[in-house]
Amino acid sequence: MTWELDPAEAFTTLGNETRLDVLRALWEADEAMRYTSLRREVAPDDRGNFGYHLSKLTGHFVQKSNDGYELRLAGEQVVRAVIAGTITANPSLPSQTVDDECTFCGAPVEFQYDDETITVSCTDCEGLVGGDLPRGTFIHYEFPPGGLAGRDAAEIVDAAHVFYDAKVIPMLRGICPICAGQIESTIEHCEDHDAIDGELCVACETRNETWAVLRCERCYYTRRVIVWFAALTHPGVISFYYDHGIDESIPVWKLPWERLQIDRHVDVDVIEREPYLFDISIRIDDDTLSVRMGGDLTVRTIEREPPEPTDVDDGDPG
Ligand SMILES: [Zn+2]
Ligand SMILES: [Zn+2]
Ligand SMILES: [Zn+2]
Repeated sequence: MTWELDPAEAFTTLGNETRLDVLRALWEADEAMRYTSLRREVAPDDRGNFGYHLSKLTGHFVQKSNDGYELRLAGEQVVRAVIAGTITANPSLPSQTVDDECTFCGAPVEFQYDDETITVSCTDCEGLVGGDLPRGTFIHYEFPPGGLAGRDAAEIVDAAHVFYDAKVIPMLRGICPICAGQIESTIEHCEDHDAIDGELCVACETRNETWAVLRCERCYYTRRVIVWFAALTHPGVISFYYDHGIDESIPVWKLPWERLQIDRHVDVDVIEREPYLFDISIRIDDDTLSVRMGGDLTVRTIEREPPEPTDVDDGDPG
């Protein structure tokens, strides 16, 4: 792996208020700034250090052109991270119930926010995943503090679902949402799976027996996702849901777990191992969609039963 700037050096470069002020000023200007106007903006009482600090940023975070100084992508990312609050703030929200009920047991659902992570959990049963996570957890993933402002509890949870999609969908397609590197996916299948009603499997500490671990080979960003979610962005699956009354865009995590009004059930059978091959059947009402998916998370075949009605040729020559 090659870095344009050594990571430790990058952090050292940013450990100075004047330099962060330069990045912010350039970001707010949204165009190249001349040396004098940049100095006037950032350090009006400068006694000579300004030029030094600016030179430290120039190259990796800031570039100099004929029009003056402007942000490079790395500089923009620093400012965005500061604005999103992930670097400078660490707010938390106490547990509160949201207007939703548990897919598994019908009990009220609550959410809490701590350590830049949102956790949605059931107030009664063991939820979806256990292990080190709070009892009853369905959702436990990162959400920047910037997403809390101006939203009530339900809106925060909705936003977190959409944010999750924005990270996971590219990963399911093999692209890291952080660095655009390549994703390696590993299947985790619990061979002794036994998740009886209301409790998690003792062997794998989850309710779901097959997961995909998606990991970036470059930056090591990692997400664990229920394996059949990979099929949820396929047009054949989307149209199946659409034909059964889902007529709005719903985040992948929300579709199977929270749309209780749809009488659905999903089964995943492992047909082959090494490499894995899965048969996924999604049932809604009396209809079944059969999806064959590989361990690389690509859909191989897709079939409806009963078959999708097709236009009957009535023989009318006109
Ligand atoms: Zn529950
Ligand atoms: Zn298990
Ligand atoms: Zn990455």
